[in-house]
Amino acid sequence: MENYNSIIAKQKDFFRSEVTKDVSYRLEALHKLRNGIKNNEQVLMDALRADLNKSEFDAYTSEIGFVLEELRFTLKHLRSWVKPKKVKTPLTHIGSRSYIYSEPYGVALIIAPWNYPFQLAIAPLIGAIAAGNCAVIKPSELTPKTSEILGKIISDLYPEEYISVVQGGVETSQALLNEKFDYIFFTGSVPVGKVIMEAAAKNLTPVTLELGGKSPCIVHKDANLKLAAKRIAWGKFTNAGQTCIAPDYLYLHKSIKDQFLQQFKETTIELYGEHPLNNVNFTRIVSGRHFQRLCSFLDNGELFMGGSANQEKLSIEPTVLTHVTWEDPIMQDEIFGPILPVLEYDELSEVLEGIHRHPKPLALYIFTENNAIQKEVLNGISFGGGCVNDTVYHFASPYLPFGGVGNSGIGAYHGKGNYDTFSHQKSVLKQTTLFDIPFRYPDVKNGLKKI
Ligand code: NAD
Repeated sequence: MENYNSIIAKQKDFFRSEVTKDVSYRLEALHKLRNGIKNNEQVLMDALRADLNKSEFDAYTSEIGFVLEELRFTLKHLRSWVKPKKVKTPLTHIGSRSYIYSEPYGVALIIAPWNYPFQLAIAPLIGAIAAGNCAVIKPSELTPKTSEILGKIISDLYPEEYISVVQGGVETSQALLNEKFDYIFFTGSVPVGKVIMEAAAKNLTPVTLELGGKSPCIVHKDANLKLAAKRIAWGKFTNAGQTCIAPDYLYLHKSIKDQFLQQFKETTIELYGEHPLNNVNFTRIVSGRHFQRLCSFLDNGELFMGGSANQEKLSIEPTVLTHVTWEDPIMQDEIFGPILPVLEYDELSEVLEGIHRHPKPLALYIFTENNAIQKEVLNGISFGGGCVNDTVYHFASPYLPFGGVGNSGIGAYHGKGNYDTFSHQKSVLKQTTLFDIPFRYPDVKNGLKKI
């Protein structure tokens, strides 16, 4: 196993040189990244096609275009974000002024998963650079072509003492975790998130953990069913369901269940065709192991639509399973594939009860026109983030920090949140020397009198 000590030592030295703290240096690094990505758009799209059969449309909108937008937003606002913020000072501190300085942590480790292998490595890198850090990226071993291109883009743009990519699987990741970083940003599964936090604890390294879980999608009786069907089908089946915030399962009000499912079937055909297994633009499952795991769920409950799979192509049809219960295997863990189980309810309290008995989800979606129902769900359930009358779209707003809560993660990023994540907030009081208020000092004279 390679020793990563030297690369981290070089990055620590480089960080100490203070070059990365210069805002012009950060802006130039971000401009370079933007140009590097733009110059490699086609190669990246080809790599994403080879690794996951992502269509050019999906590759652009959810990976390349997404990070270009994050870059545009960061470049536009960085100069204002880096300024020390003056805050109020209480009367007890009269004569002084109070400031919050954002300072970079130092050397950050970014560990990325395979499902959006480019975006989920580069988006945190944008935050790390913007905040003035050096960074080591460990991309996923399950998408080798994309990880290779990513490594090449980065090594063409930056010296390794500033930003570097380390390729490898679990063992490489573990070897990196044995080193002392100043920040760890991890995106991946809940069990590995726990491994990361344990490793970080040894050095008290701060972490962001972007994890997963079962994200519910509730369709109430008064929802606009046509729109709900379209937005849910897109959110669930894009990237073949391999999206951390895809609706994991549906909670359908009994009175609209049949009508909704009929609409959902028609919409899915409109979006992905009568025979999605023959659709050349339908994303495939990442590996044989993941394919087998997903296929084992196909006999849960009753098949309403889909259900076919092609082992050679590692492709599974958009599938809906009804008559599913919380006891079925498909309801035990995050599904992470194009299979949508349906639970039914009469009263909203049953939904709240069901979700409360399980770990806090990364996302939650509620479709209803009723404000009181929206309020009850938003107040009553803790979840990372989500949408009312939509799915997944909250992820793409730079004004909404993105992250989980409880088992679905710690911390958040995107937009200013990305910059804040990679910055320590250093509070500083600047005191006057023109006078000195005596109240804080012990009253020695009176104290002595009492003895
Ligand atoms: P994973 O946890 O298996 O792997 C993620 C990364 O960790 C990879 O780079 C991998 O090499 C490394 N890794 C794996 N096992 C490790 C170990 N024992 N020790 C140290 N490092 C290890 O996750 P994945 O399968 O690549 O991705 C899917 C998961 O990621 C899903 O659970 C999904 O919900 C989650 N996810 C979350 C978000 C989010 O933003 N919250 C986004 C995408 C994916």
